[in-house]
Amino acid sequence: MKLEKFSIGIGDRFAHQGKAQLAAIIKAKQQGCNAVPVWNKSNREHSIIGTKPADVKMEADAAVKALGWKDSYYVDADHINLNNVDSFMDSSNFFTLDVADCIGQTCDEKDLKTFIAQNKKFIGKMEIPYIEGKLNITQDDLEKIGAKFLLAVKKAGEIYRHVAEKKGGNNFVTEVSVDESNQPQSPVEMLFILSAIAAEKIPAQTIAPKFTGRFNKGVDYVGDIKQFEKEFNEDIAVINFAIKEFGLPANLKLSVHSGSDKFSIYTPIRKTLKKFNAGLHLKTAGTTWLEEIIGLALAGGCGLDIAREVYNQALEHFDELCAPYATVIDIDKSKLPSPQEVSKWDSVKYANTLRHDQKCKDYNPNFRQLIHVGYKIAAKMGHCYIEALEKYEGTIAKTVTENIFDRHIKRIFLD
Ligand SMILES: [Zn+2]
Repeated sequence: MKLEKFSIGIGDRFAHQGKAQLAAIIKAKQQGCNAVPVWNKSNREHSIIGTKPADVKMEADAAVKALGWKDSYYVDADHINLNNVDSFMDSSNFFTLDVADCIGQTCDEKDLKTFIAQNKKFIGKMEIPYIEGKLNITQDDLEKIGAKFLLAVKKAGEIYRHVAEKKGGNNFVTEVSVDESNQPQSPVEMLFILSAIAAEKIPAQTIAPKFTGRFNKGVDYVGDIKQFEKEFNEDIAVINFAIKEFGLPANLKLSVHSGSDKFSIYTPIRKTLKKFNAGLHLKTAGTTWLEEIIGLALAGGCGLDIAREVYNQALEHFDELCAPYATVIDIDKSKLPSPQEVSKWDSVKYANTLRHDQKCKDYNPNFRQLIHVGYKIAAKMGHCYIEALEKYEGTIAKTVTENIFDRHIKRIFLD
């Protein structure tokens, strides 16, 4: 199974926006951008919301059927490990092997020796096309990189072989993800991670590193854009080199997690993809939940009541909701409005505060990040929330499609 050059990770907390999301991808296709949809949902999300992996496949199948989508589509077992992968086996054809937790853990001495022997030829000064200057790699570098990442890659190998045994090696797409770690990986580290992935015979088609800077949920990139651009270029240069050098799949490409809403790096990303004629997997699932709330607010009536209630309760459960996302949100509590204030807002004021339009004076990134982590509140509302999604489907679908197409696809793939 060969993943296309451009793919977009979509998916939504409550499995109701499949069609609205696919509509954005169809619109892209009509305008010359051939990207395929990948519906993704992590085990973490499933357990918070109470959904099952099979629900995502049902959502994807239904959307594809309803809109007559003829190209490929994928269902991603997102951020899985050996402990939870089995429940995804039947419904997924894309597996994101998350081994970030194993970074820095001690690996077998013998494995480390083999890794160093395999990569010894890179010690000294080496050149990689499109990376400026020579890389100076020492024995010490190799030892440090091996000690830091080898166990993680070995783990990825174990998960891959477990899935391959059940599904057959050619029947799914493999991604290796190390994005949920504390430190970004440098392009040199990436080179040797890819070397280890190849040695482990994992046919990775996408790799998700942790990039430099902060990728906070649902809001713009925070960091040095020039540095990001340099590293993004170097990462692609390394991937191209690794494909040839290590015999990795020719379509191996970068996967950008928490990729929604990082508007300030979309231009550098677009330029770099063009320069290398490179592919990309862009994950945007989280942004759709926010559009759902915007759509509910705009619908007015009990839709607006629900949107207000989600905020009020999220504020009340601030610490509990924010804890699992500590490394990917930055909320200034002093800039959050009080429930009294929000109770006076009309539909437009609520939507403007939440919508990611940096030019709008009402936009509040603190409010937006809190709602982002607040989906558990909506899950607790149960039927009441789902009924509202169905009642106001039209208004919500419009905001979901517009957001993915206008603010995301257009800026990265079409402009
Ligand atoms: Zn991720």
